[in-house]
Amino acid sequence: MVKIFIDPGHGGIDPGAVGNGLQEKNLTLDIALALESLLLNEYENVLVQLSRRNDETVSLMQRTETANSWEADFFLSIHVNAGGGSGFESYIFPDVGSPTTTYQDIIHEEILKVVEFPDRGQKTADFYVLRETTMPALLTENGFVDNNDDANKLKSATFINSIVKGHANGLANAFGLTKKSPIYKVQIGAFKEKRNADSLANKAKSKGFETAVMNRDRLFKVQIGAFSKKDNAETLAQKAKNTGFDVFIDQE
Ligand SMILES: [Zn+2]
Repeated sequence: MVKIFIDPGHGGIDPGAVGNGLQEKNLTLDIALALESLLLNEYENVLVQLSRRNDETVSLMQRTETANSWEADFFLSIHVNAGGGSGFESYIFPDVGSPTTTYQDIIHEEILKVVEFPDRGQKTADFYVLRETTMPALLTENGFVDNNDDANKLKSATFINSIVKGHANGLANAFGLTKKSPIYKVQIGAFKEKRNADSLANKAKSKGFETAVMNRDRLFKVQIGAFSKKDNAETLAQKAKNTGFDVFIDQE
């Protein structure tokens, strides 16, 4: 098991960088939570812990002590910049040596492969969270909220997703994480209200389908099967379509 500690910068009374209607604390939390889901959903043998999961005030000492007592294999602090500039940069503690330098090389490169930011370089700094952690630690600065180009990018969910993906690719490459084999889930509906999902599930049951209502991504999804082979999912999907259901196959 690889234990990844993700630290969304700032929070609560500390908004971090502010500009163009953006607050660093919100961006870092969105990125961290999405990164956690992506790692847990798509990769084997990885454990994730976060320094905060809400908009709350957490001291730097609390962040590093939680990671240290959990005995994380890696500490990843996520930040967004301000103060004039544009693009992506990453930090490790000065003269820390390997393997931290190697992790920085790999993760920095993987992020810039998928995130359209200028490369501001791999840097070192005597930051508290880099100094006081007992495991290799990296801090990423993902664009500048006070730069119009960067801010416009950071307002796009697709762009945030590329940042998440880049961090995940970097961690996977650095720690040799293997991908879970995909599961193809055949679904006939997704609802905000559970009773609507239950009602559709009952209808499908009455037509001979096995059903399960899954609560995922804040929706109640009506699933009639899950397969590791795509062909099998497609066969069932066709059968449900012929019976008059709206069908889609969700891959995860
Ligand atoms: Zn910050």
